[in-house]
Amino acid sequence: MSRSIGKVWLGEQISRRATVLGAAGIIIILVLTGVKVVAVLDQLNRIDRISTQQILIERQMSDLHAYGMIAQRLSAASHGADRGALVQELDSATAALAARHQLLDNSGIAEAPQAVAASLEYNFAKLLALAALIRDPILGQPSMDIAEQTRVLIDSNLRGTMDNWTNALLRDAKSARDQIKIALGLSSIIMLTAILLSWLFVLRPLSRTVVDGTHHARALEDALKHTAGHDRLTGLPNRTRAAELIDHQISRRRKVSVGVIHLNLCQFRTINEEMGHEAGDQVLIETAHRLSAIIGEREFVARIGGDEFLILADSVTCAEDLAVKAADLRRTVREVYDLPGGQRLIDCVIGAVWSANGTTDAESLSVRADIALHAAVNGDGGPVRLFTHAMLEEFTLRDALGRELRQALEKGELVAFFQPQIRADNGEVSGFEALIRWRHPTRGLLAPGLFLQLAEEMGLADQIGATVLDQALDAWQGWAAAGFTVPHVAVNYSAAQLADTMLADRIKWALERRNLLPECLALEVVETVAVENDNALAVRTIRSLAAAGFSIELDDFGTGHASIANIHRFCACRIKIDRSFVTNIDQREDLSAMADAMVRMASALGVDTIAEGVETAEERAKVIALGCHSLQGYNIARPMAFEDSVLWLTEHRVLNHSRMRARRVV
Ligand code: C2E
Ligand code: CA
Ligand code: CA
Repeated sequence: MSRSIGKVWLGEQISRRATVLGAAGIIIILVLTGVKVVAVLDQLNRIDRISTQQILIERQMSDLHAYGMIAQRLSAASHGADRGALVQELDSATAALAARHQLLDNSGIAEAPQAVAASLEYNFAKLLALAALIRDPILGQPSMDIAEQTRVLIDSNLRGTMDNWTNALLRDAKSARDQIKIALGLSSIIMLTAILLSWLFVLRPLSRTVVDGTHHARALEDALKHTAGHDRLTGLPNRTRAAELIDHQISRRRKVSVGVIHLNLCQFRTINEEMGHEAGDQVLIETAHRLSAIIGEREFVARIGGDEFLILADSVTCAEDLAVKAADLRRTVREVYDLPGGQRLIDCVIGAVWSANGTTDAESLSVRADIALHAAVNGDGGPVRLFTHAMLEEFTLRDALGRELRQALEKGELVAFFQPQIRADNGEVSGFEALIRWRHPTRGLLAPGLFLQLAEEMGLADQIGATVLDQALDAWQGWAAAGFTVPHVAVNYSAAQLADTMLADRIKWALERRNLLPECLALEVVETVAVENDNALAVRTIRSLAAAGFSIELDDFGTGHASIANIHRFCACRIKIDRSFVTNIDQREDLSAMADAMVRMASALGVDTIAEGVETAEERAKVIALGCHSLQGYNIARPMAFEDSVLWLTEHRVLNHSRMRARRVV
């Protein structure tokens, strides 16, 4: 880039100097040409005068000849003829000769050679003297002799002089012509030199500068176009360029179908956070190389987002081949990456679309591949999915639901339901778990499974979390106001919510505003929160909340790593044994053995246990027998609205009293 700028600067300097030189050259050339033009005009003038003199000489010569004839006749007439008329004729001829002589004098006798001028003047004077003698003959002087003398004077002396003059004039004319030729020749040389000089010093540098400038501008434009269309890190086309390339390929190949593959790296964020951005960049570059290495000639790879790649599959001939190609791409990505911090295995998910599905432009192909990718990430159809119309329908539904969801939050349609938890030993309420519901105006009460993930994808996790927390704390205060001592209300926190750096403060402020102590709130987090995202921030938030006195409960315990490390890492004070271990626990030895191990481990660590999803009396009896501290499930009560929970508490107090009394009696 700097070389090109240097070139342009040099070009400007050259062209500035060349312009000065060129201008000076042109002025000199103009002066010289002007001088030559004046000389040529002068010579043309001279030729003009010469030709006038020539004509005058010729006329004078013929007049002289006629004069000689008159003189002859007059001299002959002296022997008796009538001389009167001839004398008159001779007089007028003499006057005419004198007048012409005067004209000759005027037209440039001065320019004639000196000898010619002198001879002409002398002979003309002699002619006039002879004419006088012929006219008025002096006695003793025979007229015939004078006439003869006049003839000789005219034919020999005057003609000779005239001829000399004519020759002198011819020479003059020739020299004038030569002068003109020289002047024209010189002018041509000067003009040619001028053209050459201006070409060398003005036009060529100027054209070079213009060409350089154009090249530079073109190079700059190309560079800008490339930057605008390519990813700086990997050099691959970006999303915009990829769309152009796909459209181009589709229009070029018309009826032939193409495949578009979206590939999304998994755990990329973790690598960035754990090993630094340099390692992350290396993963992206390496992935770009690997993908580029296994694609066909007319195919391309583009980087369309942080860890998202798009591949145009043009060498496959059907949807089945496309699926095979997608699997190949996944295999190449899943090979070990050698990174500065050590070796890493990185997985990816893929969504692909075959254009035979009725799509003809990059935009809709890309959207469909994206929908398929979404299905690969969220569905249970595996990490490589081909687009289907059912996916599109589901997507459209979700899209509509998403729009409604935003309004639902504003309209207060999202409400917390509460499911009681009771102590295993005495049946007393040990807490409530807040579980969100959507009171949908037309579809009725919707469970979180239908909208929660969508809400998080739409960035509504924080707002929903705040709504549930508010309603949970309201409920706790409501129960207290109704005379029920509920040890705590538990609120669920997802990984997306825990990614909020302000979460701990927000929770603390919510309690402070109401003058509530942290003990009245328990936070349920699934242990996979930390494992899935290796999310240092989430762990920090949880630990800070634990340090502030909030109870942390490990939800769905047993479905993740179920490790002591997690209990310790999260400072958990209770584990919630997942429903999958509780359902049919009374009938299955394996489940009861695992639940037993979990209870023992918790007890050894001084951590409480709660069994969730207790549906039957048998399951209830079994988990109590295993030593679980608390129970939650349909067998106790389903999640309910706050108003119902107050009624339930009232009923439960009565029922539990009588049950406990009966037990004591037994
Ligand atoms: P979870 O935290 O494991 O909640 C327990 C789920 O099991 C609830 O489903 C509850 O209704 C259901 N359940 C309770 N007892 C039984 C039983 O005996 N049998 C059966 N079959 N199910 C039982 P729900 O309310 O549909 O919630 C599903 C999940 O949604 C929750 O699982 C939790 O992970 C999430 N969730 C619910 N509310 C919130 C919330 O406010 N915030 C966050 N982040 N997640 C929430
Ligand atoms: Ca829970
Ligand atoms: Ca659970």
